[in-house]
Amino acid sequence: MVDMRMTATMRTSVTVKLAVKLMAKRTAIAAIAASLVGAIAPPSRAYEVQIDPSSPQLGDTISVLLRPDQATSTQPPTLTVGDRIYPSFAISGDSAGRRFRALIPTSPLEKAGQLAIQVNGEEETRNVAVRLRDRNFRTQSIWLPPGDDDLGTDFEFDRVDAFKKLVTPERLWSGPLVRPSSGEVTTEYGVQRYYNGKFADDYYHRGVDYAAATGSAVVAPAAGYVRLVGREAEGFEVHGNTVGLDHGQGVLSIMIHLSRIGVKEGEFVKAGQVIGGVGSTGASTGPHLHWGLYVHGVSVDPVPWRSAAIP
Ligand SMILES: [Zn+2]
Repeated sequence: MVDMRMTATMRTSVTVKLAVKLMAKRTAIAAIAASLVGAIAPPSRAYEVQIDPSSPQLGDTISVLLRPDQATSTQPPTLTVGDRIYPSFAISGDSAGRRFRALIPTSPLEKAGQLAIQVNGEEETRNVAVRLRDRNFRTQSIWLPPGDDDLGTDFEFDRVDAFKKLVTPERLWSGPLVRPSSGEVTTEYGVQRYYNGKFADDYYHRGVDYAAATGSAVVAPAAGYVRLVGREAEGFEVHGNTVGLDHGQGVLSIMIHLSRIGVKEGEFVKAGQVIGGVGSTGASTGPHLHWGLYVHGVSVDPVPWRSAAIP
């Protein structure tokens, strides 16, 4: 859809610089070993590391399973990728009791190639690497009259920014995510744009658009807590009527342009529960749902999340 969301998404985006650092000899050896055996890296003194998918592409969410080989290790390790640090969380109900999972978001703004991941444990760090595959995203040309990019209020952007920073410890999603609208997909994730003939370096379509009749049901893609309710009448000029859901562990959904909102902030919703209706509020040219799926503040491709459970 033609829209002015660039203003919001550019401002609220967190650009992850997954700079590939010059790897130490040990890292290089680990990387070669990892590439030889596929997704499962060889055991080391500190952690067994399993990366899924083994061959990720731009936009994928990378799941990293960590199993300490020492029973004494109980603190969740962190991962360093470029200049960002990602938390891991203990896997609940795990009979082994000592496995952790971390999620690393990727986006069309990154460069394909070797992705160096540093695992920071209690006593030792370990380096692994994965090859991030390139991907061609569709492009659109948008012609905007001057002044059309002035939409949006500080109130709106501050609230959306704060929502996108949420990382809560309990995992609330399970299994593949539910399709949030029965409408047809009109703009897929990752579409890039030329604005008035100039390539927009920081823009990509941060979600999926579904075209559907005004008022038709929008459902929660997964269980979660409602942590953002924003209304056009209160200054949500770009997003329009908005619901943000916290699925836990840094995984969030934002549903925008709604005609109506059927939930309250703080409420828990189940997967598939109706949270509002499709609309065209905010900067929108026709009734559609825009669903953005965020992992640690980065908009990721929801498609892999829809087709399989993130392990
Ligand atoms: Zn959209």
